[in-house]
Amino acid sequence: MHNVVIIGSGCAGLTAAIYAARANLKPLVLDGHEPGGQLSLTTHVENFPGFPDGILGPELIENMRKQAQKFGTEFKSGVVTGVDLTNRPFKITAGKEVYEARALVVAAGATARLLGLKGERELIGRGLSTCATCDGYFFRGKDIAVVGGGDSAMEEANFLSRYASKVHLIHRRGEFRASKIMIDRARANPKVEFVTPYVVDEIIAPEGHVTGVHLRNTQNGPAKEIALDGVFVAIGHDPNSILFRGKLEMDENGYLISRHGSLTGVPGVFIAGDVQDHRYRQAVTASGSGCMAAIDAEKFLEEHKH
Ligand code: NAP
Repeated sequence: MHNVVIIGSGCAGLTAAIYAARANLKPLVLDGHEPGGQLSLTTHVENFPGFPDGILGPELIENMRKQAQKFGTEFKSGVVTGVDLTNRPFKITAGKEVYEARALVVAAGATARLLGLKGERELIGRGLSTCATCDGYFFRGKDIAVVGGGDSAMEEANFLSRYASKVHLIHRRGEFRASKIMIDRARANPKVEFVTPYVVDEIIAPEGHVTGVHLRNTQNGPAKEIALDGVFVAIGHDPNSILFRGKLEMDENGYLISRHGSLTGVPGVFIAGDVQDHRYRQAVTASGSGCMAAIDAEKFLEEHKH
């Protein structure tokens, strides 16, 4: 029986673990399918407070993990395959193991959608990014592309034009899902060039670093190639919340809905990080919400001692 089980080992889960461990709760962290979360897929992180020279994403995560371990957090690898929240203690199944928890923190994160191209994942941090706020600064004076036609793509194209010399906005249709105001803003931006209707069918990276994209016209027009230094994929995120369908409240996109900080409709279940946040999606906000979830879990356990 565990006091607190934390599902997810990104910065939300690890911060929750640090706080819960320092409250003497001996939390158990279940690593999940992507140990370390999205930070473990990035390179330099320059916006996490406290690191004036920046820090590598995997190193930041490793530090958080060590910090959590130092205060008594236990870690288990394995993907959670089932949760029973009908009674306390909650039951969490990961493969053959079943864990019991008096309180549960769900910090399962979200996964940025990728285009599904060969070798794409290996290029993250080598010219390919899914986060303009995180990586835009590295493309000062460079030509880049943003892929997508939703609000995220428009917002990222505008944001990135602060740094980049040119932003190619590549979208597979002539129409856009984005709101009109966001499209108008991008169209009015002299650095943003709309490239439609095209899909990226190859990211060119002969030496393991992005140098261009090959594009296929979706209406049988001629294919083309664009030389560039960076590709930002902005085609949406998927919260890792399938396990909680019908068990916790979620919006139409599957993001869990929190009340009063990290609380959910199930007493004793708390949520943190990108699984409940489609707006900020930053390491520091995920960490902040992990801290809130741990404090809420601690208070809950204190109030339900018997
Ligand atoms: P989204 O609205 O789902 O748009 C995803 C875009 O990516 C669509 O244009 C889609 O094309 C394209 N796409 C999907 N899969 C693709 C693939 N495999 N290859 C090429 N293109 C692909 O996602 P989002 O832009 O991240 O927005 C998510 C939610 O957050 C939305 O509700 C949005 O309004 C909101 N948001 C709001 C703001 C804001 O108001 N400031 C900023 C960002 C996001 P199709 O259109 O052809 O399907």
